[in-house]
Amino acid sequence: MNIKPLAPRSDFPLLAGDPKLHYLDSAATTQKPQAVLDAISGYYERDNANPHRGAYTLSAAATEAYQTARDSIARFLGAADPDTLIFTRGTTESLNLLATAWGHANVKKGDRIVVTRLEHHANFVPWQQLALATGAEFRICELTAEGEIDLAKLSELVTKNTKVVAFGHVSNAIGTVNPVAEIAAIAHRVGALAVCDGAQGAPHLTVGFDSLGVDAYAFSGHKMLGPMGIGGLIAKRDLLESMPPYQMGGDMIALVGDNATTWNVLPHKFEAGTPNVEGAVGLAAAVGYLESLGMDKVHAHETALVRYATERLATIEDLTLLGPPAVRRGGLVSFTLRDVHPHDLSQLLDAENIAVRAGHHCAQPLMRALGVNATTRASFYVYNDSSDVDALVSAVAHVRERFAATV
Ligand code: PMP
Repeated sequence: MNIKPLAPRSDFPLLAGDPKLHYLDSAATTQKPQAVLDAISGYYERDNANPHRGAYTLSAAATEAYQTARDSIARFLGAADPDTLIFTRGTTESLNLLATAWGHANVKKGDRIVVTRLEHHANFVPWQQLALATGAEFRICELTAEGEIDLAKLSELVTKNTKVVAFGHVSNAIGTVNPVAEIAAIAHRVGALAVCDGAQGAPHLTVGFDSLGVDAYAFSGHKMLGPMGIGGLIAKRDLLESMPPYQMGGDMIALVGDNATTWNVLPHKFEAGTPNVEGAVGLAAAVGYLESLGMDKVHAHETALVRYATERLATIEDLTLLGPPAVRRGGLVSFTLRDVHPHDLSQLLDAENIAVRAGHHCAQPLMRALGVNATTRASFYVYNDSSDVDALVSAVAHVRERFAATV
């Protein structure tokens, strides 16, 4: 099989500088194209000032750069109203914003919060802690044997007193792609909020927020070719307008009286303090790069790599692939190799220049249900090709042979 990279490796300085590296950890963070690095340095070389605060030309340039970035990222994610895109540090902060600001204003004792067994800790712990703080009931929707959300169970769990259903677009641990619209419809039947963790969705699939059906969608720039420390929360305007602010300080106020304060309009109400303009500008360049590749092609490329990897890994004795079949899985493979700890395996692979992740993938509730402590995960993106899969498969097979030879 010869699957070529969708994006040339030469566009990515780190990969170009290390031709032997098989980088298979894009679900943790992606490498950055030169276009993103150039956008960041160009911003500092030409436009840097504190936005929104100065009346002078350079501050206006910084404000313009920040707002233009918001416009293009919102467009990329399918939100017609760019002011409903709140910039945050990433998915974790976006979900904490919701659970804290919306949660404490709307959830009380006797209410129910529903999450799923697939969730990353970022979409699990904030809701669990909200339940503990308010006295609400915290319920976890279990999975089918293939690692997919059991929609029949979810329908039963989402009762009239349910205030929020929080779920991921794509599982970072086992790759399950969830039926977002169906889950949102289940939540909306009882008037609950549908909150989607898009950390592994936005980099790989067309999001189309306005027709997706959810009330709020969280994402991280660094998982979609952008810089670290920037991401966002897109939400319905009426939800954001009815919520209290999350953090207080500069920019988010309208009028500060001695005894009371009023809030600024969206998006500023949720962006207290000096914003991460560099991050927004870098992320806008990243989405421009993804748009030039085409998200349909990005998805098709990953699907081809995952199918190929799944077929080849399945031939290795003692290897167990976790998660749904490749046709219903995002751009990653997660597996265990009998009696070889994932940490040992990933170190042995590292010696062959193969970078994979080993561990619980910030999904301990899921690991418990799967009956494993950890898995080894290889995740693919636009710069990967079939030679990365071939290197992974032969190195894993080699570890298995060496291990089998010693017992
Ligand atoms: N949710 C999922 C599904 C993730 O994969 C991640 C990152 N591993 C997060 C949330 C948290 O993202 P961040 O660390 O960028 O806030």
